[in-house]
Amino acid sequence: MSSPWIAGVQVRNLDRGTPVADFLCGACLTHKRVTGRGKVTAFLRDNPVTAHGPHCRPAAKTT
Ligand SMILES: [Zn+2]
Repeated sequence: MSSPWIAGVQVRNLDRGTPVADFLCGACLTHKRVTGRGKVTAFLRDNPVTAHGPHCRPAAKTT
């Protein structure tokens, strides 16, 4: 069973052994995942949505 994927940041298992954070950009569908408490903490602190902005290249038709 899987929940609908929502653009933005999702964090799971934060209160368990190994947190997992996912980031999905709704514009270009870039997906990034980090695992581990330290990485997840840094990931969220940097705000992946903001950090991704300058690198966002929405899929554009080149024809
Ligand atoms: Zn993007």
